[in-house]
Amino acid sequence: MFTWPVFGTELAASNSPLSAEIFRAGAHQVDISPEKFPVIVNAMFTERSADNVVDRLYAKSLVLDDGRSRVALCVVDTCLMPRELIDRAKDIAARTTGIPTDKMCISATHTHSAPSAMGCLGSRADADYAAALPAKIAEAIIGAVKNLEPACIGWAAVDDWEHTFNRRWIRRPDRMLTDPFGEQNVRAHMHPGHESPDVVGPSGPVDPGLSILAVRSLDGRALAALLANYSQHYHFITFDFSS
Ligand SMILES: [Zn+2]
Repeated sequence: MFTWPVFGTELAASNSPLSAEIFRAGAHQVDISPEKFPVIVNAMFTERSADNVVDRLYAKSLVLDDGRSRVALCVVDTCLMPRELIDRAKDIAARTTGIPTDKMCISATHTHSAPSAMGCLGSRADADYAAALPAKIAEAIIGAVKNLEPACIGWAAVDDWEHTFNRRWIRRPDRMLTDPFGEQNVRAHMHPGHESPDVVGPSGPVDPGLSILAVRSLDGRALAALLANYSQHYHFITFDFSS
């Protein structure tokens, strides 16, 4: 069951040497929707472009500070990002905030059809979009630092079997598929179809773990941020902010 610890309050009220060590948290989001069109989008298996925005895209950051050190988390609405792009974002954020880059974790929601920050699945990277993204990710982290305030933090972990499944199945030896090189040797394959006679079963177990981290201000007036982590095609970490 999810509970709200109140150690932030206890530390703040204490006269102990720890009294300066008040847990603080800050959250901030930056709109990373494309501004130039058409923009190449990726993960559609063939390269496509978009000429408008259907849903806004965000880089959402949460910074935690226990009075001794700070960590920054940032989740980006994109499919994939190359290491160099993430390192550039961390460098910009580190210069402004002083948070060491090894205390930053930047991840992707793995949305398909977002602007192509990285070439994949038949799409090239959109050079202009990819070039502008690191500064926006850094802005999310810098904004979260500016928003730091005394906070409560709570967490929970449950198994959610209902919303994940193994989509990769083992095919019957006599129903193997042909690989791109013309060899009939594809034994494990995705999406066999409902009750397909061609498969013997899923290729492995699923990870049902769902973990949640939430922070809110000490006066409880608003939930500042909620970070959830769930392994589903293939791994998601997502944020939800209340207003
Ligand atoms: Zn995918």
